Parts: sequence; structure tokens; C-alpha cells
Amino acid sequence: MPIAEFDLIAKYFTRPAKNLSTRLGVGDDCALLAVPQGYELAITTDTMVENVHFFAGADAESLGHKLLAINLSDLASMGAKPIAVTLALTLPDTNEAWLAAFAKGLLSLAAHYQVDLIGGDTTRGPLTLTLQALGLIPTGKALKRSTAQPGDYIFMTGNLGDAGLGLKIAQGYLCAQPTAAEQRFNKPYPQIDAGLALVGAANACIDLSDGLAGDLGHILAQSQVGACLDWQALPLSAAVQAYIEETGDWAMPLTAGDDYELCFTASPGQAAALTASNAFACTKIGIIESALGLRLNKAGHIQPITVTGFEHFS
Ligand code: ADP
Ligand code: MG
Repeated sequence: MPIAEFDLIAKYFTRPAKNLSTRLGVGDDCALLAVPQGYELAITTDTMVENVHFFAGADAESLGHKLLAINLSDLASMGAKPIAVTLALTLPDTNEAWLAAFAKGLLSLAAHYQVDLIGGDTTRGPLTLTLQALGLIPTGKALKRSTAQPGDYIFMTGNLGDAGLGLKIAQGYLCAQPTAAEQRFNKPYPQIDAGLALVGAANACIDLSDGLAGDLGHILAQSQVGACLDWQALPLSAAVQAYIEETGDWAMPLTAGDDYELCFTASPGQAAALTASNAFACTKIGIIESALGLRLNKAGHIQPITVTGFEHFS
């Protein structure tokens, strides 16, 4: 007999609260959260739809991990500390092996950050995974997209394009060393610690979910500035460099999504303080300019970047 809705919620998605902010978790009509004085609540939602965001038959544990990771990444990019999440699950059936693996992936990453699953909704339909994440940020301190300044340096954490390569591999590209790229695509890790370290130490920030060109483009549009990226400086793994040499597809790391690294801008003074503090590793990849548009400096030749990231309705 298939497991009933409330038994499913109790068995797979109800755990004792760990976060001090949680006043009431799963089981009532609403959950209750305490917001400490001097803090604002940061709220974000992301959905993953089968055959749009992941392949049918994708590993359930990785899906649970990734659903949480991509939402925590949004909190990281604002400099918020995650406290709780809600989960809206639409399932074609109640496959308990799938549910156990999905819950394991989600709840182990949640436990790592002391994030509580405080509620949600469970319905039948085409496999659709939606999570809402809530975090705390000292009042007025959130890192926004709209506050980059001409003269800021542009930085990013981690490497660019590994997840994009992971997707190419899943689509059939033969890579000599696929493992790291596949991992980056299937199981990204949110840059929570970097986000927290950037509060008060950077001017603008975004997480790289849809590709650097498009995501940095959001900072440029909202801040009403332009930028020039330095091709030579982009942090590309050996596997991504080999992919580019083999295929000639040098735009892939600029346009592929799913890296979930942070891209931020900092004044030269802020940048010097960040480098001195050694809080986390990052790479300087370009500069914010007052002339609008996004440009790429490739061996001294400056060209406009016209490619963008993923967009659902175009
Ligand atoms: P209601 O009908 O009042 O909206 P539900 O019957 O949908 O409540 O859910 C019962 C309880 O279980 C609620 O506290 C809800 O937040 C929680 N819940 C439902 N689905 C999930 C889920 N997938 N993960 C975590 N909590 C859930
Ligand atoms: Mg409901």
C-alpha cells in the first residue's frame, strides 16, 4: 500500500528543530520563526522541474541536496545566514526509496548549516521540487545587485564553467576527467561562509546560477554601470580549458549556469582588506566601468559580450 500523505511527511520530513529561531516547525497550519532584534528576514524560492532543471531518473539524493543548495546560494549572495526552509513537493507517486534518498540529500546539507525544515506542502502531479529558504541579515546590511560602483574590482569564488561542463558530459560530451565537473553539476555547495564574510566588505553581489554574462549583467543593469572582464584571469579548471581547446566553445564558461559561486564587486580599498583578511579564496576577474555594457578583454583585444545566460521564456 502506498504511504499516506501525513505518514510521508512525518517519516521523511519531520525532524526536531535545531535552529534557535524556530518556534514551531512541521505540523500546524503555519510554522513560527523568531526574528532577533536588529535583523531582517531574507526570503527566496527556487523550483526544479523534471525535464527542465534535471533529467528524468536523476539521482534523488543529489536532487535533495541541489534543491537546498541553490536556495542557500541565494541567501549567501545577499550575505544572509540561513535558518529555515519550507518544501513544496509535487510527486507523481510515493516511491519510498526515492523519498528516503531525496530527504537524506536535503536534510544532511540542512543539518550542516543548522537549517530547519519547518513546513511545506505535498501534492500529486508531475515531479516538481520547490523550496523556500529563510535567512537572517543585520538590518540594512544585505548585499544587493544595485550597488556596484565604477572602479570596483569584480571577483568570483571558485571556478567558472565546471557545472556547465558537467551538463555537457551528461549530454554526451566525452571528457577525459569527468568526475569533478559532474559533481559540480549534480551537487553544488552554497558559498555561505563567503557571503557572510562579504557583509560590509563588498559593494554588490550575485550568485552564479544562470551564467556569468547574464548574472553579472543583472548587477550592471541594476547598478547602471558597465564592466570589462579579463579573459586571462577567469578561473578555469584544467578540464574546462581542455574542453575549450577541443571544441573551440570558449563562450561556454561565460554562459553556462549552475556554478553557484558568488560574483561580487569591491572597491580597491575593500578588495585590499578582503585579501588581507584571507577569509576565503576568490579571483579578481574584471573591473566595473561607467560605460554601460559588458566587455571582454581577450589578449588586449576588447570585444562586447553579447551572449547571455539561460532564460525560460525565450
Ligand atoms: P494545510 O492543509 O494546513 O496546508 P498540510 O496538510 O498541507 O497543511 O500539511 C500538514 C503539515 O505538514 C503542515 O505543517 C505543513 O507545513 C507540513 N508539510 C506538508 N508537506 C511538507 C513537506 N513536504 N515537508 C515538510 N513539511 C510539510
Ligand atoms: Mg497544504
